[in-house]
This record gives sequence, C-alpha cells and structure tokens, in this order.
Amino acid sequence: MSAQFFTAVAAELGPDLLDTSDETLARYGFNRLPGGDRLPAGVAFPRSVEDVQALVRLAKEHGATLWPASTGHNLGLGEFSPVRETQVVVDLGRRMNRILEVNETLGYAVIEPGVTFQALRAELAARGDKLMISSTSGPPDGSVLGNALDRGAGYTPYFDHFGMTCGLEVVLPDATVLRTGDGALTGSRMASLNKSGFGPLLDGLFSQSNFGIVTSATIWLMPRPPVIRGWAFTFDEDADLEQAIELVRPLKLNNLVPTLIKVTSDVYCFGTHTTYPGYRAGESRTLPDDVRRALRTQNGVGAWTVSGAFYGPTEEAIQPSLDRVRAHFEAAGATYVPHDEIVASPILKIHLDTFSGEPTTSELGLLDWRPGGGATWFLPAAPMLGAVAQQQQEVSRRILTEYGFEYIVEFVCGPRAARALHIVVFNRADEAERKRMHECYGALIAAYDKLGYPIGRTPTDFQESAAARLPELQRVTHSIKAALDPSGVIAPGKYGIV
Ligand code: ADP
Repeated sequence: MSAQFFTAVAAELGPDLLDTSDETLARYGFNRLPGGDRLPAGVAFPRSVEDVQALVRLAKEHGATLWPASTGHNLGLGEFSPVRETQVVVDLGRRMNRILEVNETLGYAVIEPGVTFQALRAELAARGDKLMISSTSGPPDGSVLGNALDRGAGYTPYFDHFGMTCGLEVVLPDATVLRTGDGALTGSRMASLNKSGFGPLLDGLFSQSNFGIVTSATIWLMPRPPVIRGWAFTFDEDADLEQAIELVRPLKLNNLVPTLIKVTSDVYCFGTHTTYPGYRAGESRTLPDDVRRALRTQNGVGAWTVSGAFYGPTEEAIQPSLDRVRAHFEAAGATYVPHDEIVASPILKIHLDTFSGEPTTSELGLLDWRPGGGATWFLPAAPMLGAVAQQQQEVSRRILTEYGFEYIVEFVCGPRAARALHIVVFNRADEAERKRMHECYGALIAAYDKLGYPIGRTPTDFQESAAARLPELQRVTHSIKAALDPSGVIAPGKYGIV
C-alpha cells in the first residue's frame, strides 16, 4: 500500500517531497518513551496547503495512513514517532515554517506549523519587541502550533496555547479545507479575531485528535510589559506543599498575580543543572532524603519553591504588589528570593524566562537526571486544594519509589486547577527498566483515576490504553471519525480514536 502511495506522491508532487531512507525512518521513529521506537513507513515534507491536500487524497486512494507533526519536539510525549508503526509522518515544519502576518495593533501572528517558539520570539524582537509570546519550558525549536494542538501550555497570562489560537486552517480527511470561526466566510476579515461566530465551535475538534491536519492558524499575543519582576519563596519540607497550594490559590483567584504560579519540587529545580550523584545505570533507587536535602541547600531551592512574576509600567508601580505577596508568604514562614537573585540563579532564571515569554533550553537538563535517555511525562490535574495536592504527592512518591523512579514534579497553578507536571526519567537502554516504567505509568493512571484526578495530554505509548478508560468519549470520537474519515487516513489510534 505504502509503495503505491510513494510512487503516486513522487509522480504528482516530485521525488523530493518524500524520504524513505533507513536513516530517516530511524530518526523519525525515535522517541524517549518506554515502548521503544516506532518506525514510520516514510516521511513527507509538504510545501503548501495544496501539497497536504494532495498527500491526503493520495493516501486515501492508496490505503496509506498519515501522522501529521509540526516539528516533532514534544520530548517525552512521542516526538516525531507515530502512534502506530508504518504510518507516514507528514513533517509540516520542514518547509511550511513561515510567519504569514504579525499584527501589533491587534496582537496576533498568523503562523504555519514550522514556526518555532524561538523563531516567533526572534521575529517579534526584530520588530521592536512590542509583543510577547507564551513559551513552554520545553525546546525553543518546538512548534508553536504543534504545542497548541496537543494542548501544551505556557506560564504567562496567555498560557492556554490552544485557547489562544483562532482561525485554524485545516485539511480534512477528504482533502477539502476548513477554516474555523469567522474564517468560514470567504473574504472574512475576522478570521484572526473571532472564534465565536456562526454555528458550533469546531476548533476543539482538531486538538488531541486525528480529524484533520492544521496548515496554519492565528496565535494571539500579549503586549510585552515594560517591566517584569520575578519573585520566589522556598519552603523547607515536602509536607509544606499543602500550605504552599493554599497560599497560592487566593493570589490566582483574585487575579493579583498575572502569571501562572509554579510550585516546584526540589529535584525538578536542581535536576535541571545536576545529575543524580554517583548513580549507576541499572539501579532502581531514588535519591536518599539526606542527599536530597543537601542538594537543596547547595542549590538555593526549597523542598518546594513557589514562583511567579509581576508585570507593570515601572518597578515602583510593581512594588506594592510585591510587598503584598511577600507579606503573604513570609507570614507562613517561607523564605523570599528577590528578583536579582532569581536572575543570578541558573535554576530560578528558568522560571523568570517562562514568565517573560523567553524560550529556554535550561529545563531540558531534567531529562538527564539519570543515565539512559528515557523520559515520559505523566500529566494529571490537581484541584487548587492543599490537602489534595499533598495526597497526590504521597500517592506519586509511593508509586514512583516502589518502581525505583524519582519524584520530579512541578504544579503549575491557576485559580482552580493546577497541572501536576511529573517527569519520569529512566534508562531506556535497559529492557527491564523500560518494562518497569511501562507498568509504573499504568499504576499511576489507575491510582489517580481511583482518586478522581484523570490525566490529560498523554505520550503516544499510552494514548490507546488511556482512551479505553473513557468509553463515553470514545463512542462519540469514533462516530466523528467514522463521519469525517471513514477510511482512516489520518493517524488512526491517536488519542485512541479509530
Ligand atoms: P512540537 O514539536 O510542537 O512539540 P509535534 O510536532 O511533535 O509538536 O506535535 C505534537 C502533537 O500535535 C502530535 O501529536 C502531532 O500529531 C500533533 N500535531 C502537530 N502539528 C499538527 C498539525 N499541524 N496538524 C495536526 N496535528 C498536529
């Protein structure tokens, strides 16, 4: 099937649109997950919406399946490797990487899938730095659009990356094009501005799904504040998480703090710049408490470090808000870390960068916490209730320790819910450890399900099994898939949708 598809693509679109060399398949099949690499059948590099339409049409004709990707930089979630082997990766980012428009008056950019956080940041800087992006703490070379479509998030007030998209241009499985929101009208001047126009809101159908291939979209951008001041507070004990979350909630509910607020575990902080001291590959032990304490002191972080930032026209204008949060946390016994110390600390600077929309490579150091190159994100949500966050900490620590993996977590807090970012680092070269990692992930999902705190964004390895927990959702997504993509051209199996 693939062979006929490749021949047809080469004939219609030219031979350089495709690569099926072993080296390329190996590179695009690589990921950091426990299930091992999954090789695609080939990789296509479309140049335009028309190319994507042709790829979809030919795939349908010849029974091939396509795995769309923007830049494949979602480390620990699957990267370029498709959810099932033998899908053909559509690498949209390689050639479709233009910033089509920047509007500084209305605060947006229209981008293709290959536009990276770094590229958008650079373009806005070149235009005089009037607008700020909301970056992830992941690779600066990750795609803004790819991240939004998988419902990744940032840390500024525009943290909800999918929520900040508008006017998606999508190639559907029948090779036609859909423009969402006010983009539906030919000649519309509102496509970048209004999502809530006529009829049902279709945008959501194209996130964490396989109902279409997004070829461009608008991303809304916030004016860059003239002054950004970071702050942080450290708490000494693991059990202080409960109090930290209780203190953070009102600051977000009443909107005193414009950024999201991070509540970051000790290893998540210092693991960005240190590795497990003396760890030998193949061991299944976690950092002893006394070493963990010593590393905290050495690196100037707490058992938990709470951080956020204020925006304003001047430092003086920000000062009263800073005084308020300082009094709020210091009354609870936390230690204040001022802006200048944050700037000077390679660890805390990561936080300030993400609150300022600056892409950073520094957090990626976490992936090397112990040898072996394996990394998987586990991403449940938590209500902003201290006792529940504490309960989650106990459950995660217990399960991870049982399987021999480190507890490395950051709660990224909004007013009502936090994303509990767990990064699980393991030795991917060790078959037994991979198997343990796989089982550990299942145990974590089961324990969190039982408590009522489901996971969200999920690594490709676990998407099909995780979807099976949600039969009501699957019933509907399967019906939609059957209606839009009866021959299963686009990414069957993604998020369990077939
Ligand atoms: P990034 O490099 O931005 O982190 P990826 O390219 O790896 O992201 O994509 C992340 C997820 O989003 C993958 O599941 C991928 O299939 C999906 N995705 C990325 N870009 C598109 C797109 N343009 N259309 C449809 N799905 C996409």
